[in-house]
Amino acid sequence: MFVGDLVRLKCPSCGHVWDYKGKRKYYANCPDCHRSVHIAKYRVE
Ligand SMILES: [Zn+2]
Repeated sequence: MFVGDLVRLKCPSCGHVWDYKGKRKYYANCPDCHRSVHIAKYRVE
């Protein structure tokens, strides 16, 4: 993954889908429920 990549993630807790564009490589926080979401595991194409 390159810096600045956009990653579409789906939160396993609330089902919210969003485009994550951040610096962290492994975990992002769901903007809806603030759960930690594992990027590699919950990214959607
Ligand atoms: Zn969520």
